Amino acid sequence: MNLDLSEDDTRFRDQVRRFLDTALDDDLRRGAERCGSLFQDYATNIRWHRILYRQGWVAPAWPRRFGGPGWTLVQRYLFQAECAAAGAPSLAPMGLGMCGPVLMGHGTAEQQEHYLPRILSGEDYWCQGYSEPGAGSDLAGLNLRAERDGDHYRLNGSKIWTTHAQHANRMFLLVRTHAGDKPQQGITFLLMDMDTPGISVEPIIFSSGDHEVNTVYFEDVRVPVTQRVGAENDGWTVAKYLLEFERGGGGAARLEALLRRIRTMAAATPNGAGTLLDDPDFRRRLDEAGILLDGVRMSEFRILSALSREQNPGPASSVLKTRTGNLNQRLTELALEVAGLWATPHQPELRQPDSLEAPVGPESALTASARYLNARAVSIAGGTDEVQRNIIAKLVLGL
Ligand SMILES: Cc1cc2nc3c(=O)[nH]c(=O)nc-3n(C[C@H](O)[C@H](O)[C@H](O)COP(=O)(O)OP(=O)(O)OC[C@H]3O[C@@H](n4cnc5c(N)ncnc54)[C@H](O)[C@@H]3O)c2cc1C
Repeated sequence: MNLDLSEDDTRFRDQVRRFLDTALDDDLRRGAERCGSLFQDYATNIRWHRILYRQGWVAPAWPRRFGGPGWTLVQRYLFQAECAAAGAPSLAPMGLGMCGPVLMGHGTAEQQEHYLPRILSGEDYWCQGYSEPGAGSDLAGLNLRAERDGDHYRLNGSKIWTTHAQHANRMFLLVRTHAGDKPQQGITFLLMDMDTPGISVEPIIFSSGDHEVNTVYFEDVRVPVTQRVGAENDGWTVAKYLLEFERGGGGAARLEALLRRIRTMAAATPNGAGTLLDDPDFRRRLDEAGILLDGVRMSEFRILSALSREQNPGPASSVLKTRTGNLNQRLTELALEVAGLWATPHQPELRQPDSLEAPVGPESALTASARYLNARAVSIAGGTDEVQRNIIAKLVLGL
């Protein structure tokens, strides 16, 4: 098997490298380096988003007719890998990776024409209103009521764990329009402006000190019927379609960069007569992580390949979601171990994108404890590991 890059791909990779060399300024690199959260902070994210948009590279996975760059699978992987290796910020997935694909698959022509360009340009920043206080794993148990009121729906209830609702100007959400025999029936998928009267957003603060998720309350919020995606009471079909994209997002290139970073940190950490990298137990765990990474990369290729044929990822996305999340958690554990005592100073203000202050201890240890704490959530967010395993058992293994 020949794994060498073709001449065209090498040229493409070099073009991406040249672009990253000039486009990534110190602020963007520091914003990414100092990010301890699951999501990049809004300010850094949106700056990088707009730079990529101007370059025409903000949505590598989108078909060309909707504004994607028309890259091959290899080019898309190379782009991800180069961005991760260069320390570029990550982009929020709610618009580009979730709402966009749903609109392409289920939206009307008007919805596509209106929203897709605004997702690309960064004019619209989306949040996801699925979970409710009584509806997480059992999503179909959701209860936010939407009653028909002429050419509007009137919404009452709440959503919880809504990532970046404090920044978003749009939300896609699931509402209860009918109390059917089966809870999956009677759910409707809506698009909503966050400045509609009757909405209030309350922060939930993580144990790391980060503000990433929120509770969103709805009191007589009026949403035009034209903002519905799919048929009334058939939102479950749209919801499931979206979840495959949410769980099929991958991230092998970033995990690879993280693994490399841990190796570098360990090689600079004294341990007895040598460094931590000479410790056989530590090396074994690093190598195990490397093997898991190979598996994640292969699963990601499978999903990328399905997407490139304009198929949706399917239940294999649940495999990728659990493996990626578990590996992410392992890597943050190793990084915490390497940082050692330097992980303990609590310096959340230094992780703000505009902070130029030098941290107590090495720069590489600044985010170790926040990343460790925040990564505990990756086996919950987007559907828990237990629920993914149920899906894998049923739909992949046919048990
Ligand atoms: C950091 C973070 C960000 C998030 N962002 C968003 C967002 O932007 N938008 C959004 O809508 N939601 C978001 N969520 C919510 C997330 O999707 C839910 O937390 C998740 O689906 C689990 O639901 P729950 O918290 O209600 O837990 P529960 O469903 O109450 O689960 C509790 C426990 O029971 C287990 N369990 C439940 N059912 C089963 C079963 N059938 N078989 C085996 N075990 C089971 C679960 O695995 C879990 O361990 C976010 C969550 C987190 C942590």
